[in-house]
Amino acid sequence: MAGAALYVRYGIPDFKLDKSFIDRRIKIMETEGVIFKTGARIGSARYGFGAKGADGGNGSGSIISAKELESSFDLVLLTIGAREPRDVTLPGRENSGIVQALDFLSLQNRILGGENTGLEPITAYGKRVVVIGGGDTGSDCVGTANRQGAMRVTQIEVLPKPPEHRADAEPWPLWPKVLKTSSSHLEGGERLWSINTKAFIGRGGKLEAIKACRVDWTEKDGRPVMSEVPGSDFEIGADLVLLAMGFTHVVQNGAVADFGLDLDERGNIRTRGSFHTSNPKVWAAGDSRNGASLVVRAIADGRAAAEAMVKAL
Ligand SMILES: Cc1cc2nc3c(=O)[nH]c(=O)nc-3n(C[C@H](O)[C@H](O)[C@H](O)COP(=O)(O)OP(=O)(O)OC[C@H]3O[C@@H](n4cnc5c(N)ncnc54)[C@H](O)[C@@H]3O)c2cc1C
Repeated sequence: MAGAALYVRYGIPDFKLDKSFIDRRIKIMETEGVIFKTGARIGSARYGFGAKGADGGNGSGSIISAKELESSFDLVLLTIGAREPRDVTLPGRENSGIVQALDFLSLQNRILGGENTGLEPITAYGKRVVVIGGGDTGSDCVGTANRQGAMRVTQIEVLPKPPEHRADAEPWPLWPKVLKTSSSHLEGGERLWSINTKAFIGRGGKLEAIKACRVDWTEKDGRPVMSEVPGSDFEIGADLVLLAMGFTHVVQNGAVADFGLDLDERGNIRTRGSFHTSNPKVWAAGDSRNGASLVVRAIADGRAAAEAMVKAL
């Protein structure tokens, strides 16, 4: 199996998941005979998110080529996650102080895990923090920034504020799009909805504020349409912006390209039947084929893939 639960250790903050549970599980799996090789990268390209390799995937350690795996094993299961972060190409993006959420979260997790990262810390201490993105990763940024001693935390979301209760148009068993308030939100910070970021404002290459506007949402041909509210531009002072706008798909260079795998319409590994990819020796499970999802789904997928592989062997 190539890839193993990085988001669980380095993405999810300690205040949501005590990492001793992962250590215990790894010990059980080792006792069962699983051999873990850490610091080993499959494929030709660096896979860490963020320029600094804050997740530990910074290209250090050993490299195992796709060919080597194909020739040494009967089957390979790729579980490399979906870790291509969504970014913005707005004026002022080059200012310092604009950071991908996972670079921020994973560095904090590594420091709390006692690792000597050798990287410059990314800290919210005493800063005006703006989190762009109103989802779960954004909520983890809010909790972490508050714990680091941020002066102020504002989380902005481009979509409108969801209703507190299930809408009539979403009866059970449909998944209700309702307002989610996490423990991190309850700990402090302001949340703003229907806000679009237009630019980052900096001085001397250092971030000072974001320029944003309010947006309206209407529907055309059953699809949501966003329009800017005229004259609604405003600024939010910011020393640190955390980009938490989700993940687009699996990292497509490196392992995926080297194994010659087909991608689906969302850019993730295309699987046929059950977990087979377009390469007869390679199977895929978890976020790498489903897109960014949840731990329980990745575990269920991994178990089902293992069963299917045992049958195939
Ligand atoms: C900030 C954050 C918070 C989250 N919070 C929650 C939560 O509260 N609850 C929840 O259910 N889910 C949460 N998730 C989602 C959850 O972590 C993922 O859905 C889940 O971990 C996916 O498991 P996976 O095994 O498919 O991939 P991952 O956990 O991403 O594991 C992929 C592994 O593959 C390795 N890898 C990648 N490329 C290579 C390569 N070329 N060679 C070798 N190794 C490679 C990576 O280093 C990593 O260890 C969160 C995600 C993030 C980012």
